[in-house]
Amino acid sequence: MSLVENLESIRKSIPEHVTLVAVSKTQPISAIQTLYDAGQRIFGENKVQEMVEKYEHLPKDIQWHMIGHLQKNKVKYMASFVHLIHSVDSFDLLKEINKQAAKHDRVIDCLLQIHIAQEETKFGMNEQEAESLLEVYQTEFPHVRVVGLMGMATFTEDESQVRKEFNFLKSIFDKLKSSYIDLEVLSMGMSGDFQMAIEEGSTMVRVGSSIFGERIYS
Ligand SMILES: *Cc1c(COP(=O)(O)O)cnc(C)c1O
Repeated sequence: MSLVENLESIRKSIPEHVTLVAVSKTQPISAIQTLYDAGQRIFGENKVQEMVEKYEHLPKDIQWHMIGHLQKNKVKYMASFVHLIHSVDSFDLLKEINKQAAKHDRVIDCLLQIHIAQEETKFGMNEQEAESLLEVYQTEFPHVRVVGLMGMATFTEDESQVRKEFNFLKSIFDKLKSSYIDLEVLSMGMSGDFQMAIEEGSTMVRVGSSIFGERIYS
């Protein structure tokens, strides 16, 4: 199947209220342009430098999402254009995003990344950390808006484990949403598990290899 056929078949399989982020990390500009021409406008990258390069070469109405672990010193390179940052995992990082957004007179939308997997290697906060950040950030950081949560499930064949983790994240989302009405996005689900994530309440899926094919890291 071609790129565009892959895209269309995924679009057909997700409900309208779910936003599709095409994860284009490691993929060439030509492939992104092809999907853009087919109507896709939201792309996700996990490295700042790669995202900046692609931003410079592609149409300016693309909405670029940062989905990977983010170092504070890199925020400045994308602060002028990034549309949504999925991977806020600390107070200090949110503070830096606020500072850089202020320089561009913007408000940058962010998601708090919640640690739901069994692996230690995955980043994210726990519920209490997210809640205390939500309590203070609005008065301290007028140039960021926390609009939801993001999580990555354990990399495992065990579907019941993955479902449990998505369900856990949804329950945290619902709890926090009852006090923080800005929370509307729940970013969970990738190529292998996005159907299940949607069943468990995801409103935004991040799909790479099911659209582009397997990634080749050079
Ligand atoms: C790479 C990546 C994805 C997409 O993964 P696929 O399995 O290729 O769909 C989604 N989310 C994050 C955070 C990623 O780094």
